[in-house]
Amino acid sequence: MSKQDVFDVSIIGAGPSGAIAASLLMQKGWSVCLIEREHFPRFSIGESLLPHCMEMLEQANMLEALLSNAEKLGFQYKNGAAFHRAGKDCHFDFVKKFTEGPGTTYQVKRAEFDKLLADEAQKQGAEIRYGHTVTDFSSDESGTLLSVDGPQGNYQVKAKFTLDASGFGRVLPRLLNLEKDSVLTNRKAVFTHFKDNMSETSAGKDFDRNKILITVHPTKADVWYWLIPFSDGTASIGVVGEQHYFCNEDGSELALEDVLNKYIHEDANLSTLLAKAEMIAPVRTIGGYSADVTSLHGQNFALLGNAGEFLDPVFSSGVTIAMHSAMLAADVVDKQLAGQAVDWQENFTVPLTKGIETFKHFVMAWYETSLQEVIFFSDEDTQVKPMICSILAGYAWDENNPYVKNTKRRLNVLADICQAEKDGVTTEHETQT
Ligand code: FAD
Repeated sequence: MSKQDVFDVSIIGAGPSGAIAASLLMQKGWSVCLIEREHFPRFSIGESLLPHCMEMLEQANMLEALLSNAEKLGFQYKNGAAFHRAGKDCHFDFVKKFTEGPGTTYQVKRAEFDKLLADEAQKQGAEIRYGHTVTDFSSDESGTLLSVDGPQGNYQVKAKFTLDASGFGRVLPRLLNLEKDSVLTNRKAVFTHFKDNMSETSAGKDFDRNKILITVHPTKADVWYWLIPFSDGTASIGVVGEQHYFCNEDGSELALEDVLNKYIHEDANLSTLLAKAEMIAPVRTIGGYSADVTSLHGQNFALLGNAGEFLDPVFSSGVTIAMHSAMLAADVVDKQLAGQAVDWQENFTVPLTKGIETFKHFVMAWYETSLQEVIFFSDEDTQVKPMICSILAGYAWDENNPYVKNTKRRLNVLADICQAEKDGVTTEHETQT
């Protein structure tokens, strides 16, 4: 029989959800082992955090490490989101949000960010096995068994509970047949890093590096770009759309670099901003990322972050949802291991899904374009803007916010109002001219 190690909790993957969960569980006194396939630092996409993340980093005693290393690691202070569509600009200042809590955060290089969090978890006592891959899983009433391929061969990790934080690896959804199609349309992203040299361009002189810039393609409303600046003069840029947008007329795929160049060229603002930019990383792509599961928990296991449901990159909600899921799960695992009665559906799935659904309605309304109308129409003086702003800042679980409590209905009403006002303005304008 192969070697068997024993822990209170085993965690598959040492990304943000795994590291935060590990820290919170160790604070409660449980022994934790993280099994991580890669060696850190390793590249990962998902570089723009939302302010709500700062609350979870604080709970995990990792905030100080982030703040004191941010500058050295090129992390960019972030205080909001800017939007651009065909010559029109608007922005949301996260400090002016409805919900209480931090109003600023960072845009991070994920290789360094994920390593920072994993190192903090390790300092707090977690055992992390880098270069080890989980290949199988079983569970019974007493606990779980992971089968792991490590440098010395296959071995087993026994635990009372397992958290799957394997991201797009989606280890337990695949092994346990929990995969379910997402209701969202599957799209593709093509992205890279630039030395942006934006301060040397005419548009770049006024560019606000403290905000992510989301640009809607001037003629294809369901194609958008991110521009995420870092503090060291580099930036991440990506374009997102359905697969067919990235093909030649004969259906063959365009080369990735051509996709990026073509789309940047098609937006006047971005092409001016990036006129002097130099590519410093390979152009990468990821597609088919929207995913769902039939259940977020089962016998002695639960799914965190991307291993559960992943929506879409447009509102940078991924790391926030991943950390929020870790926070909720750590609490329930702690109670279960302490012998208390727990209800995973009521105590984990229902509260987690609340925020995911809020973001999901935002994502759907964005691609249906009604939310784009709201965003580009948003009036600084209304009471509504801080409520929308709260959700964009990651506070998607605050049921005091009417746009969390009743997202779909409220957004529909708001979109209708914006449309009516827009039509009114257009009519007035047309009458004048
Ligand atoms: P991950 O960060 O993916 O970590 C999972 C870890 O598990 C990895 O280190 C992996 O190596 C490990 N693993 C996988 N399989 C195994 C195995 N078999 N055994 C052991 N280890 C394993 N989110 C944002 O918040 N902001 C953004 O700006 C943003 N932009 C995005 C852009 C795109 C195009 C996409 C697709 C996503 C974006 N996201 C963004 C989402 C973000 O990338 C994820 O939501 C986030 O990384 C999820 O964290 P996680 O901890 O669940 O998983």
